[in-house]
Amino acid sequence: MTKHNEIRSEVTFITAEDCAKCKYCCSFKKSSLSELPVINREEMENLKAIYPEIKFKKVKRNDCDGYIFDMENDYSGNDPLEEIPCPFNKNGCILGENKLFECAVWPFRAMKKNNDIVIAFCVDCPFFLKTDFQKFESLLKNGLGKKILDYAKKFPASVNNYKENYHVFGKNY
Ligand code: SF4
Ligand code: SF4
Repeated sequence: MTKHNEIRSEVTFITAEDCAKCKYCCSFKKSSLSELPVINREEMENLKAIYPEIKFKKVKRNDCDGYIFDMENDYSGNDPLEEIPCPFNKNGCILGENKLFECAVWPFRAMKKNNDIVIAFCVDCPFFLKTDFQKFESLLKNGLGKKILDYAKKFPASVNNYKENYHVFGKNY
């Protein structure tokens, strides 16, 4: 299994304890399932071997196949605002060293904007306002930006369309 947990240590402005207190981004509304991390077939099969109870769903994005957790039937009703935890969120992510790439680099992510692949930051994360922008830029310039863009090129299914609650940093790292 490709292990992305080392990359998480590069996102130095948030600690695991900060995220454990906040918990914003490991739960999903029915209306925001498009925000789920997308993984490739090999990662999906490896996770299924360890966690056979987790269901996955095939998706196609940017002409590339990928898989997301199949949570659609886990909601209690049709309220698009009902929010339930990711199946790996058991009072915090249980994936440990098998952390998924998109989760490892979050709240940065690669997004498609006007036919470009850009690096964006989810402004809903409280650390967007709490952190000096130079810190973000220096992390991206010191290798994190290239890793995010390289992964996006290698696995286009992981690249979501740009949305307004993201701040765009740039496309050249
Ligand atoms: S919104 Fe930010 S601080 Fe909150 S859990 Fe997500 S990454 Fe962590
Ligand atoms: S896989 Fe882990 S880090 Fe990613 S959304 Fe689920 S609980 Fe959160």
